[in-house]
Amino acid sequence: MSIKLISVRGARQHNLKNISVDIPRNTLTVITGLSGSGKSSLAFDTIYAEGQRRYVETLSAYARQFLDQMERPDVDTIEGLSPAISIEQQTASRSPRSTVGTITEIYDYLRLLFSTIGTPHCPSCGKPISRQTPEQIVERILSLSGSERILILSPLVRGRKGEFKKELESLSRQGFTKVRIDGVLLPLDEPIRLDKRKNHTLEVVVDRLLIRPGVESRVQNSVQTALKLSNGLVQVAVIDGEEFLFSEKLACPDC
Ligand SMILES: [Zn+2]
Repeated sequence: MSIKLISVRGARQHNLKNISVDIPRNTLTVITGLSGSGKSSLAFDTIYAEGQRRYVETLSAYARQFLDQMERPDVDTIEGLSPAISIEQQTASRSPRSTVGTITEIYDYLRLLFSTIGTPHCPSCGKPISRQTPEQIVERILSLSGSERILILSPLVRGRKGEFKKELESLSRQGFTKVRIDGVLLPLDEPIRLDKRKNHTLEVVVDRLLIRPGVESRVQNSVQTALKLSNGLVQVAVIDGEEFLFSEKLACPDC
């Protein structure tokens, strides 16, 4: 059964004279009256104060220390109350982009809620996107069927124009020996000339190994290195087989 009323009994906050009212829920209710008749005492200092106090009480002791604890208003009982928000008219800003949501900061909580429970999708291609921990990526790689030869690559450039001389030099200096450019494996100790007017995809080969018992820590290290180099991406290529792209961040690997 849904609660239909907010029932206030015996409100004596400030100048209220022990009043009792029933306010219908899910409606717009206006409290009017002469100046000093206790409109604010009822709306803000009793109903809102009690709603806020009960809400704060449901939070952990840790969270509560950051919030102002409200005093229990002078009232016998209030029933049918939900957590309350209060917007004071003088705080409303003139910006056309302000809404009840932004003024009350409810919008921030909604965003947080959706970011926690929602399934994020890429805004440009619509594919679901996910975030994987390095451990999950390692697990997935190790779950590839045994005796499979794989390459662990770090995607550095994805379809961008350029010669990437500096990048290639730097990789060579860091001790890497192979890169995959536009899908072709090339040794780094030979000069690589790229057409700077064309789009290129550049991946550095971090490791080449056989999936078998005992490679766990090696895979772990290589995944770490690949993630670090590309700022969160690892490409795994099964030799003559499938390819997998993993992202440590909540990002669309394609876009
Ligand atoms: Zn996308």
